Amino acid sequence: MQELIYFDGLTNIHNRRYLEFQGEKWVKEAVDRKERLYCAIFDIDEFKRINDQIGHIAGDEAIKNIAILLRENIEENMMCARYGGDEFVILARAKGNYEQVFRQLFEALTLKMFLYNDEEIKLGISMGVCSLERVSTKNLKGLIALADDALYESKQNGKNKLTIIR
Ligand code: GH3
Ligand code: MG
Repeated sequence: MQELIYFDGLTNIHNRRYLEFQGEKWVKEAVDRKERLYCAIFDIDEFKRINDQIGHIAGDEAIKNIAILLRENIEENMMCARYGGDEFVILARAKGNYEQVFRQLFEALTLKMFLYNDEEIKLGISMGVCSLERVSTKNLKGLIALADDALYESKQNGKNKLTIIR
């Protein structure tokens, strides 16, 4: 029962409460050990259109579908959570070429076709990625805020984009 408070009811992946609890620990550990930590936030593009044109249940299915893809593509050095509505956050402890890792993840999540009542739905996502190194206030809030700036840039640049703050 205790575990349930950390999971999102729609997608069964971790929720924002878990991210805030566990993610803050990851930030502190990365600072203490002088290790790198990366944060990605992504938001589904034009999601309201699915709700408006096909219906709220189709919207729910779309969110579930993205969560399944996310779960399939997450690696053991990462955690992911549904942050709110159509937004998801990923934290990744340093391992190998992180830019390539996030590029692959972005490709795995975006514009993937799924069926809802025989209707083909394809959704783009916009993603922002940053490194803890670049954050001035070294806490989870500061880290997510910087990744969110990158996400905003992806939306401004026409959506379905990945922006990495170097
Ligand atoms: P943008 O490309 O700028 O991201 O536009 P958008 O249409 O995706 O709009 P935005 O991200 O601002 O809004 C997300 C919408 O997601 C708003 C809300 O009605 C809807 N939403 C939030 N949670 C759920 C949910 O659990 N199920 C469904 N079906 N819709 C949800
Ligand atoms: Mg959206």
